Amino acid sequence: MADLSNKKRMALPMQEMPLHPGEERVKNFEEVPIGYSDEMAKQEALRCIQCTKPGCIPGCPVGIDIPAFIQLIEDGDFGGAVKKIRETNFLPAICGRVCPQDKQCQLDCVVGKKNKPVEIGSLERFVSDYERDNGGPVLPDIDPDTGKKVAIIGTGPAGLTAAYELRKKGHAVTCFEAFHRPGGVLVYGIPRFRLPLDIIDADVAFLEEMGVEFVYNMIIGKVLTLDDLLKKEGFDALFIGTGAGLPKMLGIPGENANGVYSANEYLTRIYLMNADKFPTYTTPLVQGNKVAVVGAGNTAMDVMRTAKRLGADVTCYYRRAREQAPARTEELHHAEDEFINWKFLSNPVEIMYDENNKVTAIKCEKMRLGEPDSSGRQKPVGTGETFIDEIDTLIFSLGCNVNPIIPSTDKKVTTNKWGIVMVDEKNYMTNKPGVFAGGDAVTGGSTVILAMGQAKVAAENMNKYLKGEIKWGEANVPDNPNWPGIVWDKPKPKKAATQK
Ligand SMILES: Cc1cc2nc3c(=O)[nH]c(=O)nc-3n(C[C@H](O)[C@H](O)[C@H](O)COP(=O)(O)OP(=O)(O)OC[C@H]3O[C@@H](n4cnc5c(N)ncnc54)[C@H](O)[C@@H]3O)c2cc1C
Ligand code: SF4
Repeated sequence: MADLSNKKRMALPMQEMPLHPGEERVKNFEEVPIGYSDEMAKQEALRCIQCTKPGCIPGCPVGIDIPAFIQLIEDGDFGGAVKKIRETNFLPAICGRVCPQDKQCQLDCVVGKKNKPVEIGSLERFVSDYERDNGGPVLPDIDPDTGKKVAIIGTGPAGLTAAYELRKKGHAVTCFEAFHRPGGVLVYGIPRFRLPLDIIDADVAFLEEMGVEFVYNMIIGKVLTLDDLLKKEGFDALFIGTGAGLPKMLGIPGENANGVYSANEYLTRIYLMNADKFPTYTTPLVQGNKVAVVGAGNTAMDVMRTAKRLGADVTCYYRRAREQAPARTEELHHAEDEFINWKFLSNPVEIMYDENNKVTAIKCEKMRLGEPDSSGRQKPVGTGETFIDEIDTLIFSLGCNVNPIIPSTDKKVTTNKWGIVMVDEKNYMTNKPGVFAGGDAVTGGSTVILAMGQAKVAAENMNKYLKGEIKWGEANVPDNPNWPGIVWDKPKPKKAATQK
């Protein structure tokens, strides 16, 4: 460890992640951050004061030993650092790129009280890149075959994590995926300029090397039911990781016009079906010149930045003010750097279209901020004044509900009134014997790392179930339709995080 006082460490400047400039990056789908050099990573690692009660670890839903991996970076042992992360997180390259560290591990970083918090995400990204450039990850030890078969439904981060954990325990694991390729939202939601495809593919190849099998184009609930899997196909336990991919719309006139998309459909067409390369690929897409995006969350930023890269003039319509936009600050900045237009305090009330049913304009009511609502945010209130903007494409980005196919075809898997799959909050068992669930299916939509954290707990309990250590009858599944789904509260450190 470098001989440097905590005071000096805390005063060191943060190493800013180098980015491709806005005017260049809107012309391509290359990843926006360039990455740290070895020297930058070591410099950033020097800023960590190795707290005795670190604020960062409770902020990580999979409990990575953050100070330990940062210490290894400071010591120049980059391989050791990534191995340390892999003890609890098998997707470091993905998490280093997409985790909302500002709301999780970096939120309570002690250095952040006086200076900018340690860039934990950038350091995680750095060591995962180092690993890829230096032979890739080493296969974990796999327990001897147990003779038990497990089916994972859905191959988003929840399904992939459950597959990894259960395969390590010696079970035979098969993943069923509705689409023709794995990854879930990692592939068809998060854009390539934030998460390149080869990173996801490498993680799936790693699982295949461990012996996990993948079956694509298989919609469970339609082609095979849960009972088929349990009774005919001989699976001993199932994990539902089917996510939340049912888009919400506003319910205003004109939503069925051509050229109106949900964010999910728009992104899926481009990133899963290559619709931007139509007719080379078979899925078409209206490539708009004037694109309106409704909403200001992280998904809206992804949609706008994607449309911009396809050459459109893009405007964000949001009924509240900029300060209330739910997107991460970094995402807003990235979108601002990429020349997005903003119409805050603008609430869409109608979509206009021509005789060919093609969208032509958006009508909005101007809003003002009123009294705070139950969330504490000032409520947007209509002013009665409206305006009309000409557009040729409109994309709603208003969030999603849980995929309904499985619960609608198997009534034993109970859901709350919003369609969220109900599980025992401790072990993630559903109401159906042998069936567990995790990820967006049980939260209604959250983050990659939370989906992974839940899948880990579910897999641990599935393993116990398969070994006969816990029984289905012991599950405490809620029966209240207002049950909110699993909510992650970042645990508060018992005492304030402290320095060494
Ligand atoms: C555009 C967008 C951007 C996002 N950006 C971020 C980000 O930057 N950081 C972050 O942490 N989170 C982000 N999120 C949220 C994050 O991606 C999700 O919380 C996470 O992917 C949930 O993982 P999951 O495995 O539960 O579900 P999903 O990733 O949704 O995967 C579910 C999988 O199940 C499959 N499936 C569904 N039904 C069936 C069925 N009946 N049979 C077989 N397969 C089925 C689906 O095809 C899919 O592959 C973003 C979400 C979106 C939409
Ligand atoms: S909370 Fe402490 S140990 Fe964790 S990253 Fe910040 S300085 Fe390092």
